[in-house]
Amino acid sequence: MTRLLPLVLAAALPLASAGNAKERAAGTDLALVNVAVVDVITGKVIPARSVLIHDGRISAIQPASAAVPPRFRKLDGRGGYALPGLWDEHVHLSDASLPDTAKLAEGFVQAGVTTVRDMGGNLSVVDALRELIRSGAVRGPRIFRPGPFIDGYKNGAPDRVTVENAREAEAAIAALKLEKVDFIKIHNGVSKDAFHAVMSAARRAGLKVAVHLPQSISAEEAAAAGAATLEHTETLMESGLRSLKLPGKTVEEGRRALAYEARNGPGSLIATMRSRKTCFTPTLSEYRSFAAMPSTSYPVDAPKVAPPSLLAFWDRYFPPDSPENAFKNKIRQQVFATFASVVKALYAAGVPILAGTDLGARDIYPGISLHEELKLLSDAGLSNLDVLRAATINPARCMGLADSIGSLSVHKAADILVVAGNPLVELAMLGRIKMVIIGGHVVRRIDANEVAARGH
Ligand SMILES: [Zn+2]
Repeated sequence: MTRLLPLVLAAALPLASAGNAKERAAGTDLALVNVAVVDVITGKVIPARSVLIHDGRISAIQPASAAVPPRFRKLDGRGGYALPGLWDEHVHLSDASLPDTAKLAEGFVQAGVTTVRDMGGNLSVVDALRELIRSGAVRGPRIFRPGPFIDGYKNGAPDRVTVENAREAEAAIAALKLEKVDFIKIHNGVSKDAFHAVMSAARRAGLKVAVHLPQSISAEEAAAAGAATLEHTETLMESGLRSLKLPGKTVEEGRRALAYEARNGPGSLIATMRSRKTCFTPTLSEYRSFAAMPSTSYPVDAPKVAPPSLLAFWDRYFPPDSPENAFKNKIRQQVFATFASVVKALYAAGVPILAGTDLGARDIYPGISLHEELKLLSDAGLSNLDVLRAATINPARCMGLADSIGSLSVHKAADILVVAGNPLVELAMLGRIKMVIIGGHVVRRIDANEVAARGH
């Protein structure tokens, strides 16, 4: 059926892989002295602590008055608030090519993003970047990646493994397991039968599955089948339109579709996501940029933060819009205004919300857009604490990694962001970055004067 609200971001293109980022060779033991520690699990701020780091992990969190053993190099944290490094849960790193991917990695570091979840693309491009980061040649976040998309047949779409039946599902999962992917990403072209075959093969292989909702099933069916995460608010609208048999040609239909997905009660999407512990990545910044696309070119300062191969990717897959699309975009913008309602309904029901940008989509920038996404989640009704959780402990939990990362606790990875004020009181403090530490390595540090000069 024709759809005027095609809410799917044009087939998320190729992308990547990742794997467990191992700690680089242990650096010096570090002590971050006299910071306030933001505990994203309890929501408490513990003042005047020192965070000791050994072998890339937090080895102690002690009163600032306690002695620090001499082997620790001391970093003065006075006036700072330490919180877990941020995650961007939806990026496509290989939409840029080498060596530009290093510029993406740097953009994440500058913004305090210490972990990214790649969401599909060219495994060798992503792994090459990961290796550069691991070796210390490039500063960048930890990367988790699924390798290519599992999809139905799409003419010319790169970095896909096409799966049309149970035998192909089994073979695809076995091959990806050999490549040591961190999880599986399903895209929107798979049939209902292929979807369920992939889900059960992945379950047997012990791999979690992130789902860009296939057009063949409903969001509730994907959650019931055990998807670890559902991606993109627009896919919930698409699901609602299909369930209600609406063509999706008006804003009102979009609103009805979202209201359908936001309802509660037996058999509803929300009830199933709660019982199956499904997580949700709204990617609000992505759809907002998509809906704003009639602009004929990217912002003038885009080349400063987006490398040439990413800009070329935008021009190829998201070309400046035609006048007729400008009309569609007007509708998309009105639809976007209704997205917050379904995010709020899922959040209120206790569905874990994840912060992701869909880097690779036009006008989405490494790191910068994650901060925009956090603001949009706040505008959608999340408390400051839950906004922080969406970019820290929630992704760690949804990926089954919360024992080793995602909050500031002893034994967890020393991925730490130090900012100049309490983000639980004022979210914008997340932008006042003083220091970024990844795996015990200080990857960014701004002195007090520089922070004052930026003054925002
Ligand atoms: Zn994507």
